[in-house]
Amino acid sequence: MAERLQKVIAAAGVASRRKAEALIQAGRVTVNQQTVTTLGTKVEPSDHVEVNGVPLTKEKKQYFLLDKPRGVVTTAHDDKGRKTVVDFFPEVHERLFPVGRLDYATSGLLIMTNDGELTNLLTHPKYQVEKVYLAKVKGIPTVDALKQLRAGVRLEKRKTAPAKAKLVSSDQKQQTALVSLTIHEGMNHEVRDMLAHVGYPVIKLSRQQYAFLTTDRLVPGQSRPLQHEEVAQLK
Ligand code: URA
Repeated sequence: MAERLQKVIAAAGVASRRKAEALIQAGRVTVNQQTVTTLGTKVEPSDHVEVNGVPLTKEKKQYFLLDKPRGVVTTAHDDKGRKTVVDFFPEVHERLFPVGRLDYATSGLLIMTNDGELTNLLTHPKYQVEKVYLAKVKGIPTVDALKQLRAGVRLEKRKTAPAKAKLVSSDQKQQTALVSLTIHEGMNHEVRDMLAHVGYPVIKLSRQQYAFLTTDRLVPGQSRPLQHEEVAQLK
């Protein structure tokens, strides 16, 4: 089936659709050795597309859900030689990359794929995909602190969007609590920064849900392929 060139480039994970459009307009894209600068040019799967002289790889699309353990980096390579989320997929030959990031110390749900277009879709703020986090915090958040989280807090760089915040349980003796926080943005360290900002630093953090997906039957370190219907629903 013929598809628009910028869509094909984005789907190959080379660039977002908008960046792909800029690359086309800048004359950096060839189709069957001919430079194409017209947006919306349609290409067939048999066409040979190159971006900056590098052919697009036509890999089979792969989609996995990983329950990331703590102590693992969310990148493909780590200069310090630490374990990465890609190391959990030794059998997969396609170049997988994570959808968004979880901190080294955060566990929980991470989608791994080689579908660049889906990645852009899920991580673009415009689509407001909900993520649910469970945080163990120092101290027991007051009603007022939860209200502040719900209203959005002013961090160093910007104000966070309103979140859903719920006190799940508290331990009076240890003076710790479990807080559920639902956000749809993806700023670095957002949950940790929000909770620290209202006075309750995070001791432990895990992502429980991403859109409608949960880690359900998985334990940290385990993964499963996403089903066709799940991928379709994400799109
Ligand atoms: N927010 C954080 O602070 N850390 C994560 O890993 C994810 C969201």
